[in-house]
Amino acid sequence: MVHTPTLLYVNILITTTLAACLGLVARRDRADGLMYWALALVAHTGAYVLYALRGVASDWLSVVLANVLITSVFALMSEGVYKFQGRRPPRRWIWAPVPFVALTFALLQDHMVARVLLLAAVLSVQFVQFAWAMHQRWALTPGRGKQFVLAGFGLFLLALLVRAAAVLSGTVEIRSVTDSNAVQALIFSITSVAMVLSNFGMVVMTKERADERNRQLAMQDELTGLSNRRDIQEALTRQLAQALRSGRPLALLMIDIDHFKRINDSYGHLSGDQALRQLADCIRARVRSQDLAGRWGGEEFLVVLPETDAQGAALLAEHLRLTVERTTFLALDGPRMPLTVSIGCHALDITADRSTDDMVNVADQALYRAKQNGRNRVEQL
Ligand code: GH3
Ligand code: MG
Ligand code: MG
Repeated sequence: MVHTPTLLYVNILITTTLAACLGLVARRDRADGLMYWALALVAHTGAYVLYALRGVASDWLSVVLANVLITSVFALMSEGVYKFQGRRPPRRWIWAPVPFVALTFALLQDHMVARVLLLAAVLSVQFVQFAWAMHQRWALTPGRGKQFVLAGFGLFLLALLVRAAAVLSGTVEIRSVTDSNAVQALIFSITSVAMVLSNFGMVVMTKERADERNRQLAMQDELTGLSNRRDIQEALTRQLAQALRSGRPLALLMIDIDHFKRINDSYGHLSGDQALRQLADCIRARVRSQDLAGRWGGEEFLVVLPETDAQGAALLAEHLRLTVERTTFLALDGPRMPLTVSIGCHALDITADRSTDDMVNVADQALYRAKQNGRNRVEQL
């Protein structure tokens, strides 16, 4: 038979270690909720120390306070999840179980069975609250960490329900939390595993989100939010390979602002930046969802148009040119900036285009021709 006080001791060792580790890396100003999880672990450790002192310490501590702490563990974890998600936690709901347990357990100090059942019921409610909060942002939370977190919680709940069922059916008799029997062994073993699982999951969740953000940043142009040159180049490489394999059309637009130096000189560099952002918005609004737009260089943009032939590309380019011409671009201090673009258009020619460079070069030549022919126009090669 596994000795329950030993299991409690092991559990205390585990949660203390986890709490110390999390406490060291958690920062209150970082919006990942780890600080709450560290506090939850501290509460868990406190609860188990008090459980282990059953019969030695007063029941007000070992029964009432210990279970108040256990309920607080899950309230704190919910707080952590809301913090991670950047949402305001519904505090009234999250914390309601804590005073409830304080009150009822104070009245039930001589009723172990009732307490076992009540705790299972209260923690089930907390589990549902927690799972609901996770569910609401499930799709927005990248990676696998969230599954570990929920698995840990699920295991914990399962153990509590098994204990409640065993007690209710009279399969086991539990007189004290430190009693050793199969059900007690199950619950306290599972609790250790569950705490490791869910805390590991939470740390992984923060890592996966940071990775995802870094990945986004590495692909994005900082000023306009469009793809950066590396990303649009990779997209073009992928699309070209696919088009050459499938024989489907593919087209490119190279867009360059006309006389942008003058804009900078007349209205200042910051207004120039503002114009670049606004032009990026125009491009974003005009292209279809499967098209990919990126900032190729200073005031040059490349748009990759999959499944688009020469005619379709020229049509889109002309629409875009007109949209820009009709859009009001305002300088930072108010005056209107005259802004137009020239666009070079090129549709994939499988007899000539072998690489992305080939395609970009032809689009560039078309752009050059548009500049030569007077700007604010579309040319196709
Ligand atoms: P053209 O019609 O021949 O394209 O004339 P242009 O003045 O646009 O010529 P060019 O392409 O040589 O000049 C590009 C200018 O864009 C030069 C540079 O000052 C400006 N530029 C490049 N990147 C940025 C940027 O990030 N912000 C701002 N404000 N200006 C930029
Ligand atoms: Mg230019
Ligand atoms: Mg240029």
